[in-house]
Amino acid sequence: MRYPQTFIDDLKRQADIVRVIQDYVQLKKKGANWMSCCPFHKEKTPSFSVSPVKEIFYCFGCHKGGSVFNFVMEIERVSFPEAIKLVAEKSGVPLPVMVDDSRFQARRLESEEVIELNKWALEWWEQQLESSAEGRIARDYLKAREITDETSKTFRLGYAPDSWEALSSHLRQKGATQDQIERSGLVVKKEGGTGSYDRFRGRLIFPVMDIQGKPIAFGGRTLRDEDAKYINSPETAAYIKGRNLFGLNLTRDEIRRNGFVILVEGFLDLIVPYQFGIRNVAASLGTALTPDQVKLLARFARKVVVNYDGDKAGVQAAKKAIEILLAEDLEVKILVLPDGADPDDFLKKSGATEYHRRRGEAQPHIQFVIDQAVVDRKLSNPADKEAAIDEVLPYVRAVRSRIQKREYFDIAMDSLRISDATMRRELWHSIRGGFGDGARARQITSKPPQVKPTVAEEHLLSVVFADETLRGSVLRMLQPEDYEDLVTAEIFRALLELDRANQEITFDSLIEKTDGDERVTALLPMLMMNESLHALNEHYSPEECVFTFRLMKIQNRIDELRDQSSIAEREGDTEKLAKLSAEQTELAKRRKALLPKAEALQTGG
Ligand SMILES: [Zn+2]
Repeated sequence: MRYPQTFIDDLKRQADIVRVIQDYVQLKKKGANWMSCCPFHKEKTPSFSVSPVKEIFYCFGCHKGGSVFNFVMEIERVSFPEAIKLVAEKSGVPLPVMVDDSRFQARRLESEEVIELNKWALEWWEQQLESSAEGRIARDYLKAREITDETSKTFRLGYAPDSWEALSSHLRQKGATQDQIERSGLVVKKEGGTGSYDRFRGRLIFPVMDIQGKPIAFGGRTLRDEDAKYINSPETAAYIKGRNLFGLNLTRDEIRRNGFVILVEGFLDLIVPYQFGIRNVAASLGTALTPDQVKLLARFARKVVVNYDGDKAGVQAAKKAIEILLAEDLEVKILVLPDGADPDDFLKKSGATEYHRRRGEAQPHIQFVIDQAVVDRKLSNPADKEAAIDEVLPYVRAVRSRIQKREYFDIAMDSLRISDATMRRELWHSIRGGFGDGARARQITSKPPQVKPTVAEEHLLSVVFADETLRGSVLRMLQPEDYEDLVTAEIFRALLELDRANQEITFDSLIEKTDGDERVTALLPMLMMNESLHALNEHYSPEECVFTFRLMKIQNRIDELRDQSSIAEREGDTEKLAKLSAEQTELAKRRKALLPKAEALQTGG
């Protein structure tokens, strides 16, 4: 079921959160809010509160919170569309005729139909591979590639006979109509005329499964000498290119367990490692890696080792992949196997142990990019040097975590032999702000220093939410550096954007501005309900909170420098040690200047 967005927006305005929640718990008015014992956890004194003004609820005990829809979803254990229906009924808002619904439903039915046909085709192709006389050519090929029967069965490989209509007639026999067969993409429609012919002929079949293991598309490798080594399914109701990764249905748990994924290109680059027991792998399938694929990967691991072919095309593809991966805030390493080998060749030649060893030595993405940038250039030549800088810096700029960004920047500057301090500073300024030109500067620190906001953040945000007159002046006091390493960074960024655009600051507008960022959704109700804290801490001014942010930042850098110093000391790098200690002294001075102003708030969360 789907409701038009305009209806949902209307309903949000009309639904009375107190009246809806009143149906489930006994609310009592307390100041601007309504309170009760929490329906989501056991308690004797009320910590569950509802704000009709902010249109949110929040429990100070179990920290559940959100909009009226979140409440209904949580208490009724229903999906979002069902919550909408319930809220509409409770609010007396008539449900709209669902114009979109039939189209959405039709698409879903069509997708299920395509998958059904794919299942029939795949079962039949599997049989062909296993036992048909013609399938011998495919069996021989797999044997030559040292793919075992077990592996072949795990990946459900098949063989499509060299025929224009063998599969089509099989599908018709199973009861499929010509329309259904054409919609499935398993056939190619004849040009101009009517009718169709089988798309995959005389090919080894690799099924592409969705994350639940349903066949949504196929790749077919030629077993003769044809121009097109691989052909693939077209887009259908069940398959949109660039949304899936090959093998992930089999490897997802292993990826999660390992905490990182090895990203490869082709079918066999995944299947062969899998056979060798390397199972935290996913394949991007030839085409350039897409943001959708990366988002899918990120659900299972935040670290990626890119292991593409070592040839020129592979290197280019790897560089493109780095950009996409960094944009999604993943940590990227690059594994280049010797002599341009792909994982398939390398494993057969050198074995899994050697592969693991090389994988352990995979380069951070920046080193790979630098190596590529200097490979045919002389750094003593100014023009070459400039070209190398231009090539490398976008990959530093794309890093979202500021701490990592700085580290990579320093590595790049050292490797490109840029020692002039003024120039380094200028280059740093050119990339520090954000990421890509024109792209929305939406940096998320990958590892927040604390999971919970600090007292200073909570306090400052509660002032911003509670006091509209103070809001503008508080927000204008903030520099991006002040908040970008905080767990609430996204909230500050959204607040500033909304304030600048003179837009209303509400739970919904903030959720929208942050694209439903999970961390924001989790923190926001608490922060918005924190008026009591605002009252309690009134003797801390917003200025003091900002000082505290700056202080925390300095402290973090000092901690970092201490780590780096001990490494430099171990390595006997006296020059670096001197540099680090100079910075430490400088920071200590700045820290001292801020301390009296902010010390009282530096308690952390
Ligand atoms: Zn609770």
